[in-house]
Amino acid sequence: MVFVITGPSGVGKGTLIRALLQQVPELELSVSATTRHARPGETQGVHYHFLADEEFQRRFDAGEFVESAGYSGRRYGTLRSELEDRVQAGRSVVLEIELQGARQVRETVPDAVQIFIAPPTPDTLRLRLVGRGTDSSDDIERRLGVAESELAARDEFAYVVVNDRLEEAVARLVEIVRGEMTGRPVPSTE
Ligand code: 5GP
Repeated sequence: MVFVITGPSGVGKGTLIRALLQQVPELELSVSATTRHARPGETQGVHYHFLADEEFQRRFDAGEFVESAGYSGRRYGTLRSELEDRVQAGRSVVLEIELQGARQVRETVPDAVQIFIAPPTPDTLRLRLVGRGTDSSDDIERRLGVAESELAARDEFAYVVVNDRLEEAVARLVEIVRGEMTGRPVPSTE
């Protein structure tokens, strides 16, 4: 199965997904490619495949991406090599991607389970992005600008998880994923 997890920058997708992978160890995370620079603490091939612009374009032209998008001046994409072998082997994969990519996957992998992570209020995004301290103020403003259109798209998703209290959000995410994996889906609204 393929699980797509989308949500605005600063909503806490990374933290939620780390907890999800601990609780559902049979899930595997697809490592995306990006042209952005690694942040301190990020490792090549673990957090992302960090690619130069030319290398990203070469792979794009060669049809190596399942989906890709521009975001905050950089490119991001899911490599077929991250997805196809695992799916063919019957394993379950999580894609952590932004909205344009989620829409592409909806077309190419219609069976994928699409989950949107929403903040309790729009203001929480700014607080978290500033508090995280990893992005420049220009980048934060760009990310918040994109967040507005992302938040408006939540109804496109099969499931919405509001990340208010972390433990509750993780429990809900685990419930959704386990429900889908066992063929007993839980209701799509909380
Ligand atoms: P960040 O720079 O904060 O790591 O990621 C920026 C945005 O790009 C996030 O919304 C993240 O989910 C998204 N993203 C990460 N990998 C991919 C990918 O492979 N494809 C797409 N479409 N978006 C991605």
